Amino acid sequence: MNAIPSTSFHIAVMPGDGIGHEVMAPCIEVVEEAVRRAGNFAMRFEWLEAGADAYVATGSAMSKATFDAAARADAILLGAMGLPHIRYPDGTEIAPQLDLRFDLDLYAGVRPIRTIPGVSSVLRDPRAEKIDLVIIRESTEGLFASRGRGTIEEDREARETMVITRGVCERLFDFSLRLGQRRRASGVGQGRVTCVDKANVFTSFAFFRKIFDERARAFPDLLADHVYIDASALMLVLKPWEFDVMVTENMFGDILSDLGAGLVGGMGYAPSADVGDTHAVFQPCHGSAPDIAGQGKANPTAMFLSAAMMLDWLGERHEVASARKAAALIEGAVDAAFGTGRLVTCERGGEAGTSAVARAVLEAMAFVSTEDRP
Ligand code: ATP
Repeated sequence: MNAIPSTSFHIAVMPGDGIGHEVMAPCIEVVEEAVRRAGNFAMRFEWLEAGADAYVATGSAMSKATFDAAARADAILLGAMGLPHIRYPDGTEIAPQLDLRFDLDLYAGVRPIRTIPGVSSVLRDPRAEKIDLVIIRESTEGLFASRGRGTIEEDREARETMVITRGVCERLFDFSLRLGQRRRASGVGQGRVTCVDKANVFTSFAFFRKIFDERARAFPDLLADHVYIDASALMLVLKPWEFDVMVTENMFGDILSDLGAGLVGGMGYAPSADVGDTHAVFQPCHGSAPDIAGQGKANPTAMFLSAAMMLDWLGERHEVASARKAAALIEGAVDAAFGTGRLVTCERGGEAGTSAVARAVLEAMAFVSTEDRP
């Protein structure tokens, strides 16, 4: 008889809207299989409704009870929220996932951009097969601090205000610099952390850069450098393999992470995590994709890789090695499934829809070894 695991993680599952539901269902299957194979710990899933559909049904995009339940969980796994045709009276889209970032103080948006074997980049240079960088998008202030507070004067002039604070920046940069150290120690990164800003034009970004330099002095083993946002967009297209960790303001990070997703195959391949000191939300970079919702075409890979990030975060935070092993099993299974070169998603003009990708990843997990992974 199997022993009852002593560790059980409580996960708040929020599928949200559109393809959020379609990618979440197979994701839970994949996570359960990885947990079963890794052994020694368990997961308890609490399904919660929030988003645009919830707003239509209940008048609230995320009720207080739902928020409280999510905040009590060990981690939050989110599909996608918001639908363009469902809006608040002021015309803005329903995005309670942004409220989660603000209310749970999830200051570090972690957006890994990694080429998956068998999923070729749009770049023809062979070095594009080795893209492996992480964009850290500050997620609680910057230009988004103005969300819901923008003004329009007499239909003549609109204003939004950028906010950069020392407290958030210090934590953000320390997080990014520690990630640079961890990536180098595990043989993935070169130990380079790049501050992306527009310090040559804006006072707020000069301040952002100044704090970056101050914090980087405590990490003399790393190469800490700067790139302007416009130059970083150019370099990400010309030579993305030269970057390791990039850290930037909220709005810049929003844009750069979609550019990064495009480099490695599309939105369906880009996972993300919004991490604070006590809570974290894991969700694909993509939105609810209403143009393909309900057709079985959504690529669930980003959702699977976001769940792997969640398992890795839980494993590190709670010192549960088998949770990190489960994370490596999912990542390894994704690599193995696509590595055959035969699995081509609808997103890339192929035949493989949501269930075909899920089946391939579940089958590949049986053959994955986690021993040789960092
Ligand atoms: P948001 O602003 O909510 O992040 P968005 O407006 O950027 O959303 P997405 O919903 O991310 O838009 O979709 C952008 C494009 O990428 C759409 O054409 C969509 O169909 C496609 N797309 C997004 N996610 C996936 C996926 N998982 N699989 C396949 N295609 C996807």
